[in-house]
Amino acid sequence: MTRKLFVTTALPYANAPFHLGHIMEYIQADIWVRHQRMSGHEVNFVCADDAHGAPIMIAAEKAGITPQEFVGQIAAGRQQYLDGFHVKFDNWHSTDGAENHALSQDIYRKLKAAGFITSKTIEQFYDPVKNMFLPDRYIKGECPKCGAKDQYGDSCEVCSAVYAPTEVKNPYSVLTGATPVMKSSEHFFFKLSDEKCVEFLRGWALQDNRLQSEVANKCKEWLEGEGGLGDWDISRDAPYFGIEIPDQPGKYFYVWLDAPVGYLASLKNYFNKTGRDFDAFMADPSTEQIHFIGKDITYFHTLFWPAMLKFSGYKIPDHVYAHGFVTVSGEKMSKSRGTGISPLRYLDIGMNPEWLRYYFAAKLNAKVEDLDMNPDDFVARVNSDLIGKYINIASRAAGFITKRFDGVITTKWATNDDAFIQNLRAVSGDIQALYEAREYGKALRAVMEQADLVNAYVDANKPWELAKQAENNDKLQEVCSRLLEAFRILTVFLKPVLPHLATQVEAQLNIAPLQWDSVQTAMPDQHRINPYVHLMQRVDPLIFDQLFDAPVEASKPTPEKTVASSTEIHPLPSPPPEGAGEVSGAIESLAPEIKIDDFAKVDLRIAKIVNCEHVDGSDKLLRLTLDVGEGKTRNVFSGIKSAYQPEQLIGKFTVMVANLAPRKMKFGMSEGMVLAASAADEKTNPGLYILEAWPGAEPGMRVR
Ligand SMILES: [Zn+2]
Repeated sequence: MTRKLFVTTALPYANAPFHLGHIMEYIQADIWVRHQRMSGHEVNFVCADDAHGAPIMIAAEKAGITPQEFVGQIAAGRQQYLDGFHVKFDNWHSTDGAENHALSQDIYRKLKAAGFITSKTIEQFYDPVKNMFLPDRYIKGECPKCGAKDQYGDSCEVCSAVYAPTEVKNPYSVLTGATPVMKSSEHFFFKLSDEKCVEFLRGWALQDNRLQSEVANKCKEWLEGEGGLGDWDISRDAPYFGIEIPDQPGKYFYVWLDAPVGYLASLKNYFNKTGRDFDAFMADPSTEQIHFIGKDITYFHTLFWPAMLKFSGYKIPDHVYAHGFVTVSGEKMSKSRGTGISPLRYLDIGMNPEWLRYYFAAKLNAKVEDLDMNPDDFVARVNSDLIGKYINIASRAAGFITKRFDGVITTKWATNDDAFIQNLRAVSGDIQALYEAREYGKALRAVMEQADLVNAYVDANKPWELAKQAENNDKLQEVCSRLLEAFRILTVFLKPVLPHLATQVEAQLNIAPLQWDSVQTAMPDQHRINPYVHLMQRVDPLIFDQLFDAPVEASKPTPEKTVASSTEIHPLPSPPPEGAGEVSGAIESLAPEIKIDDFAKVDLRIAKIVNCEHVDGSDKLLRLTLDVGEGKTRNVFSGIKSAYQPEQLIGKFTVMVANLAPRKMKFGMSEGMVLAASAADEKTNPGLYILEAWPGAEPGMRVR
C-alpha cells in the first residue's frame, strides 16, 4: 500500500546560519524521506524558518532593519547549505507567512471555543526606558545566593543557582541598563493541566512505537511528576515580533505557540503552490505526520504540540523522532577549543558532502544518542568502507567492460557461482526495514557485509589475471558483468544516503533512476554501459586541519607562530590517482581523463631537501626546506612524519608542485607541495613513499 507521508524537521530559529547540528538533522530526515520515495510512497517533506520572538526583534533593531528584513537575510542564506549537502525539502517557508498567521489564529480560536484558554494577571519585570516586558534572559544582576555580579535573571553561571528574576539583587535591563520595575499584565494560558488534556497525552505519548522508549519515559515523568502539568503561558505583550492574538489588541502569541504551527503552514503553502487540497490531505486518516527533532525540544513536541492540535480539532502527529547532539572528538563543539565546524567551510574547502552524509548515516541509530564526529573515524569509514569496499568494485570491473567489450555486459553466465548476487537480493528487505526504523548505522553495516562478499568474489576470480590471457575473454566479461550487477544493487541500498553518487552511477551504467524494487531486476543481456569515470576521491586526513576553527590559543604568539611568516606549510598531497584494474586488483581507480594542456598547468620541479625537521605540536608533519634553484629556499610542510626521520631526507632530491597557490593553514602559509605515493588500502600498506630523482637531476629542473 502506498503511504501518504507528511514529514518535517524542526524549524531553525532565524537568527543565525545553520550549524552542523542542523545539517545532521536534515540529513537524517532526508535519508528517511528518500528511502520512502524509493519504496514508492508519497512524501511531503517541508520546513520553514522560525521567525518570531524577542531575540529576533532585538537583533533586527540592533542591525537597524525590520525583523522581516532580518529574517529575510537569514532565509536567503539557507539554500546553499541545503543544496550543498543534497538535502531536498519540497518546500521552505517562514512562520511569518500568511498561512501561519491564519492557522495559528484558527487553532487559538478553536481552543478558546473548546474551553482550553484561560487568562490571569501576572507581574513581570518591565523596562521603563524601552517600554517592554523583559524576558528572564534580558535581566541581569547579582546572584541572590553567591553575590556574583552580572548574572542572568534565571540562573547564576558562577554558583549554578537557579532562581526567579524577582530574587536577583540590583537587577538591570540588559537592553538599556535601566532598573526594571514590576508591572502587571493579563496573560493567556493553554490549560495543559485540564484532566482531559492529561488523559489524552498519556494515551498519545505512551502508545506503542509512537515515540522512542526514552522519550516516552520522559513524557511519563512529566505527566506523572509532582504537581503534574502546569498551564502554559502562550501570550506576550507588545512590542513583540509575532502573530496577534485575535480580539486582544497588543497581545501576541509566544513564539513557541506559532513555531510548530509553521509545519502546517509550510505544507499548506506548498499545497497552494502546487494546486493541491491541504484540508483534504490533512483530513485523510491514512496521512502520517512525522516530525524529526533534537532532544532539547521534546517537551514542546510531545506535550504542547499534540495537545494543541487535539483540542483544536486538527490532526495529531503520528510520530516524533528525537536525535542527540553532534559532538566533535567526544566534546561539545567549541570555537575556543578548535572543535567548531562550519558546514559552509566544509563545502568551501572541497570536502565531499556525501562523505559527511555517509559518515553521519554510519553513526546514526533510532536512539536519542549524541553523534560524535571524529576525524580518524571519518577517514577510516570513508576511505576503507565507502571507497575501499564499494566504489572499488566499479573501478575494478567497468574499465574492462569498456576497453575489452565495447561497454557491453553479458548475462549468459557459464557458471552459477553468483551466490553473492543472490545474497544481495535476499537482504534487500532487511536493509529496507533498517532504513524504515532509522537504524542507518545497521543498514550500512549490512551493506558493507555484502560488499565484503562481492570483494571476496573479486579476489577469487581476479579479473586482472583473467585479462592477461585472451582465451579467458568470456570469463572476464562474465566476472565483470556480475560485479557491475552487484555494484548496481549496492547502489540501490546506498542511494538514500548517497543520492548524488547514485545519479552518477545511473549515468555510468546507462540505466533509469534506481528505485528500491530495481534490486530484483538485473541489467539485461548485451546492455551497454558508458565509459567509466572516477566516482569519488578518498579523504586526505590532513584536510581536517583546514576544517576546524583554529583554537583560540593558536592566535597567541608562540615560537612556531613567530617564524610562520617565513615558513611555508603544506600538507601531503592527496594520494595520487592510480591506474585502473589492468595490473592489480587493489589500486585506486583513475581520475577523469585530462588533455596534455591540463597536465602542463602543473609545474613540477626537482627540489633538493636542504633541511628537514620536526614540527612542534604536530604528529603528522615534517618541515622541509627546499632548494628549487630560485636563489632562495622554500619551506614546505608534508604529512610524512609517520614514514621518515628528518635526517633520512636531508640531501635527497625529490619532486614538488612549484606553482600551487599559497595556502593559509593552521600552522601558517604554504607554498608548494612534495609528491609521495600511498596505497589505496591503508590496511594492506600504511606506508608513504616520497619520490626521489635519479642522480644528475638538479634543483629547479622541470618535470614533464
Ligand atoms: Zn551565584
